[in-house]
Amino acid sequence: MLAVPGTRAMLKLLLLVALIAVAIWLYRRSNGRRSVNPPQPPIDPENMVICGHCGVRFPASESSQDADIHYCCDEHRRAGPR
Ligand SMILES: [Zn+2]
Repeated sequence: MLAVPGTRAMLKLLLLVALIAVAIWLYRRSNGRRSVNPPQPPIDPENMVICGHCGVRFPASESSQDADIHYCCDEHRRAGPR
């Protein structure tokens, strides 16, 4: 008796919920794609150089350079390449 209109109302409600769910899913998917950055290789914030004497890696800005060879400190610059 009331089953047919009730079922129809329920179907409409389910359809509406499904449409909303799909809309939210599409919205999130498109949003997610925009916010996802392509994987980037790890880049040193500073140019890293290797000490010619002890071989330690350090930022070029802290380098004590002699000719084309970088040294981590004045001591190693005086000591020269190994
Ligand atoms: Zn050194």
